[in-house]
Amino acid sequence: MKKTDVIIVGAGASGLMCAIEAGKRGRQVVVLDHANKVGKKILMSGGGRCNFTNYMIEADCFISNNPHFCKSALQRFTQWDFITMVEKHRIPYHEREHGQLFCNDSAKAIRDMLVQEAEQVRVDIQLNSDISKVAKKAGHHYIVSTTREDYYCQSLIIATGGLSIPKMGASAFGYKIAEQFGLNVLPTRAGLVPLTLHEKDKKQLVPLSGIAVDAIVSYAQRNFHENILFTHRGLSGPAVLQISSYWLPGERVEINLLPDVNLFERLKETKNKNPKLLLKTLLKECLPKRLLAVRIEKDLLDLPLQNISDAIFEQISMQLCHWNIKPNGTEGYRTAEVTLGGVDCNAISSKTMESKNSPGLYFVGEVLDVTGWLGGYNFQWAWASGWCAGQYV
Ligand SMILES: Cc1cc2nc3c(=O)[nH]c(=O)nc-3n(C[C@H](O)[C@H](O)[C@H](O)COP(=O)(O)OP(=O)(O)OC[C@H]3O[C@@H](n4cnc5c(N)ncnc54)[C@H](O)[C@@H]3O)c2cc1C
Repeated sequence: MKKTDVIIVGAGASGLMCAIEAGKRGRQVVVLDHANKVGKKILMSGGGRCNFTNYMIEADCFISNNPHFCKSALQRFTQWDFITMVEKHRIPYHEREHGQLFCNDSAKAIRDMLVQEAEQVRVDIQLNSDISKVAKKAGHHYIVSTTREDYYCQSLIIATGGLSIPKMGASAFGYKIAEQFGLNVLPTRAGLVPLTLHEKDKKQLVPLSGIAVDAIVSYAQRNFHENILFTHRGLSGPAVLQISSYWLPGERVEINLLPDVNLFERLKETKNKNPKLLLKTLLKECLPKRLLAVRIEKDLLDLPLQNISDAIFEQISMQLCHWNIKPNGTEGYRTAEVTLGGVDCNAISSKTMESKNSPGLYFVGEVLDVTGWLGGYNFQWAWASGWCAGQYV
């Protein structure tokens, strides 16, 4: 049996950050991962460029049953701390809309930075390690058995992430360990995921496949103003992914296809100035022809504005600016970026990430019931929670 101070299960974003910080404190750290590569999700993130953080990190951009839980960690290890690390490693990066920060070249730079920092403090990373059993010993020590070795440790950190992208090694391991030690696990579901449509809507919208438009997507007082993308399965694009984390099955979402236009007023004004203008000529300035054809009747599109009443203008505005649509589900974990729900934060110390009822057992990253918006928020949570645990394990 190998003795070590700290075992971290999961060589992903949060596990590596925790390993680095614990290593800096002189702790002997072993990281176990069943995958054949370190940080697979980091490598595939942000379309290969890793959206590693966001200039505008706020607790309101995270979803949790306990919305206060994430605040302390996010304040102690901030986006600026991670940016300092990135700059120390001379990784070129840039800002995109909504404060999102991406690598200029490749996500590999972030993964390599973490591995390098871990190596500097002699963290031992063991890949292809399947964990068969975890047991608690007297004095709050833990035994972790893998197919190759048994480890005896003082601190056990679960950093196994969520359920999204099973092909990348995602597993329910973290939730099972939580349950084994009596922690509550809140129901999980896919987040930041495309929405699928009922057959009738799908049939109508399939011709729009590939079209992206600027829109506001709303649900339950949440509004996201970004692109939406029509796909052959349903709706995607950043605004739809964002709302998917809030949307509940059976409910409707509202889409405003003309977020920057007061359409009703514009129609009336244009009718006064240019009564012979065809409705389609005016609308084509704002929206793709194929999309208009799906939302507005052809006969109406062909009419001059002078032949259209205010009541019909009102109707057209409703159809384009208050489009109510009822998704039939999501694409699920196969394509989801994150998992909502997870280990109940009420069972965890927000200062140390240690389980309240099982000393020495810690949970960090996405396995916890903390889910960020699209835009670098999920990595910032992984870095921050991993960093906090790293100060105590
Ligand atoms: C396609 C995609 C793109 C994304 N892009 C972004 C982005 O640009 N910006 C952003 O902020 N977030 C992004 N995310 C989300 C982000 O990747 C995760 O929130 C983040 O990686 C979570 O970190 P983590 O350490 O909790 O888990 P992970 O990084 O998922 O790491 C978990 C590790 O645990 C290992 N593991 C799992 N089960 C076991 C087991 N049973 N035994 C041993 N090891 C195990 C896994 O192999 C993995 O290495 C993206 C997610 C996906 C799927």
